[in-house]
Amino acid sequence: MSEKTAPTETVPVIPHFVHGERREGASGRHSDVYHPATGSVAGRVPLASAEEIDAALASAEEGFAAWSALNPQRRGRILLRWVDLINENMDELATVLAQEHGKTFPDAKGDIQRGIEVVEFAAGAPHLLKGEFTADAGTGIDVHSIRQPLGVAVGITPFNFPAMIPLWKAGIALAAGNAFVLKPSERDPSVPVRLAELALEAGMPAGALNVVHGDKAAVDALIEDPRVKAVGFVGSTPIAQSIYAHAGRMGKRAQCFGGAKNHAVIMPDADLEMTADALVGAAFGSAGERCMAISVAVPVGAETADRLIALLRERVKDLRVGPSLEASSDFGPVVSKDAKERIEGYIAAGVEAGAELVEDGRGVVVEGHEDGFYVGATLFDRVTPEMSIYREEIFGPVLSVVRAKDYEEALTLVNEHEFGNGVAIFTRDGDAARDFSTRVDTGMVGVNVPIPVPIAYYTFGGWKASGFGDLNQHGTDGLKFYTKTKTVTTRWPSGVREGASFVMPAGS
Ligand code: NAD
Repeated sequence: MSEKTAPTETVPVIPHFVHGERREGASGRHSDVYHPATGSVAGRVPLASAEEIDAALASAEEGFAAWSALNPQRRGRILLRWVDLINENMDELATVLAQEHGKTFPDAKGDIQRGIEVVEFAAGAPHLLKGEFTADAGTGIDVHSIRQPLGVAVGITPFNFPAMIPLWKAGIALAAGNAFVLKPSERDPSVPVRLAELALEAGMPAGALNVVHGDKAAVDALIEDPRVKAVGFVGSTPIAQSIYAHAGRMGKRAQCFGGAKNHAVIMPDADLEMTADALVGAAFGSAGERCMAISVAVPVGAETADRLIALLRERVKDLRVGPSLEASSDFGPVVSKDAKERIEGYIAAGVEAGAELVEDGRGVVVEGHEDGFYVGATLFDRVTPEMSIYREEIFGPVLSVVRAKDYEEALTLVNEHEFGNGVAIFTRDGDAARDFSTRVDTGMVGVNVPIPVPIAYYTFGGWKASGFGDLNQHGTDGLKFYTKTKTVTTRWPSGVREGASFVMPAGS
């Protein structure tokens, strides 16, 4: 983790938010926060020590006591007030988000909006938390189940959706009556802190939602503390896998979502103009830094491939990469200098391996922003499955076209890939779409929809190396993850009803 700026330098500190107040951090360790559009250091984020984690968890236990004592409907009202406040502060939040992440302003609003939708869903918790009831399971015996909060849950979230993913996790966990400790990405930490401040303003008790920044030391301290009952993670696959294993060893429930390599299969009967538009948005929007970005297009048949490449080429060459807050930018910079170098390294590796570079996004210079972390839209044709640009997640604005001779070859390609987050098929044929949706080994499927992120009341989760754990995020799975079930079996002995006398007692 970078600690480049000397501690004496005067850049603003993005604080922790614990027990209803900003805390500057006492560990003496910090990480730099950049504005990717300019390449400049815009702030410093403290990295929490074990003692600071301990304090955040002590606060969360207090927060849990106060928050879980409210009935679910009251909690729901506070969540809705939180939604109102986020909407009232939308422009400020989206501006900061765009500056720290690099995505464009409208895209930053979308990041926040898709998070809000899950909080709106979560406000329906009174209905969603209802248990089951069976009368007369045996003679005079009733059985019912109730869902109770776990206590303190933690979320460790990635840089690429600094509002949406924290809101997905915190929204559901809080609605179920838990306290939530968020450990957001250290690369764009300001919006998570503002969201927690707004939760307090909405009426959440201090400690119900704490935000601590940190690296592996903070995450390990959270996972190992007995007060933490559940661990939710979203990020790259190696970290997802190791956190899932670590949480399992500690006896915690965990859901850990990892990386992706999402394919789009393009059938010969697809509307290719519409498909090309959809692919360009899905591959290059947010500079390809979306876990549901399309990074591989698989046209079926040589003629489909030739036509698709021609349509993609004319669109890709006109795309404008530029500063996040400039309206003319189709997409912004990538998140860091390291990310830019990694992506450009993959492009070089693709060329070296023999893929055909149709559009090259390396070496882009944005006037007035020469130090920004820009990579232009890059298109490869004739990529093959053994190439690193096909096997590995690039997480940048790079679209690889892999040509398949027929439908079965395209489907096999998707199913044999290590990752299984999202996938799309473009076709006019219902039978092909139905067969594909049934047989594809992937968690989320789009039919003529390039980025099939499920709506809040369905669940989000990938398969294979894209997800570890058995419950998805948000939707009813989310409520299950953040609650434990208690089952009560009841028999009452003969009571007052049988022994009661309805005659006016009279003295002898
Ligand atoms: P990352 O794995 O580097 O970091 C994610 C989180 O883990 C951050 O909070 C980070 O501070 C923390 N972390 C990093 N190293 C750690 C370590 N050794 N021990 C403990 N915690 C550690 O991921 P990122 O670069 O922030 O995000 C991009 C990745 O996230 C991509 O792979 C993308 O596909 C994935 N992602 C997946 C989904 C999904 O739902 N499957 C959604 C969004 C992003």
